[in-house]
Amino acid sequence: MFDSLQDRLQSAFKTLRGKGKLSDADIDQVAREIRVALLDADVAVPVVREFIANVKERARGAEVSQALNPAQQVIKIVNDELVGILGGETRRIRFAKNPPTVIMLAGLQGAGKTTLAGKLGKWLKEQGNSPMLVAADLQRPNAVNQLQVVGEQAGVTVYAPQPGNGVGDPVQVARDAITEAKRTLHDVVVVDTAGRLGIDAELMQQAADIRAAVNPDEVLFVIDAMIGQDAVGTAQAFLEGVDFTGVVLSKLDGDARGGAALSVRSVTGRPIMFASTGEKLDDFDVFHPDRMASRILD
Ligand code: GDP
Repeated sequence: MFDSLQDRLQSAFKTLRGKGKLSDADIDQVAREIRVALLDADVAVPVVREFIANVKERARGAEVSQALNPAQQVIKIVNDELVGILGGETRRIRFAKNPPTVIMLAGLQGAGKTTLAGKLGKWLKEQGNSPMLVAADLQRPNAVNQLQVVGEQAGVTVYAPQPGNGVGDPVQVARDAITEAKRTLHDVVVVDTAGRLGIDAELMQQAADIRAAVNPDEVLFVIDAMIGQDAVGTAQAFLEGVDFTGVVLSKLDGDARGGAALSVRSVTGRPIMFASTGEKLDDFDVFHPDRMASRILD
């Protein structure tokens, strides 16, 4: 992902090579090229607008520097602005003072929630926690089984609905799971919820009901970076529906343009906390805005 954006930005910077002080015309020109590169990568229009305004303002005001030539200065400004739209600081999970910490996953069907539950479970375990995964996705016929499979791969306990124990009622399953986690001393509960193929009032209500019932410490909205421009609208709908606290970008290993996913932080004001880069449980990491910016600019 981001290969094309990377190439386009590099060629925009090339036009500045060997220049002494930048004229307003030079700055306008490079800003125009950066703008087109961002728009072509699917970065949301309002995000691009602000990004370019900031780059221009800072490039015009840039001091003549001994250490950096004009091209390097512009690259540094673009880097800083990219880090900014990606959220600046790395945002870690907020753990509950009184365990268990409850992390709820929300997102469209196919976004990668169930896979993420396994990844998060493995990662939490490696961090010294004792996580429990909860199968509250009762929509998709195979979802409970799928969570059991990833839980087994991750070596993490899975709480799945038992006959007569809330089958068909994901809110009850989530509630019971937390009681069970307390009893069995699991300190983090990851609740996998159902998704639909598109935004759907019933789905959103169910997610909101689960949220209200379990009062999670974090609600992670999982977004498939491959869905392109739809990412922004989907994120806005979930923000309204479940008021998520953080974002997980999944499928960053794909070859889509990716800019829409990069806009989610700016559009929703919620931090990107994790990134998924493949189907395997280890294809997952904490999201670092500065590292992502460097990757795009390298
Ligand atoms: P859910 O419906 O949101 O629970 O989504 P799933 O976890 O079932 O994932 C849907 C599909 O995407 C599965 O085939 C996963 O293996 C795949 N998947 C999940 N995360 C990633 C990722 O980061 N990269 C790639 N390439 N595939 C992924």
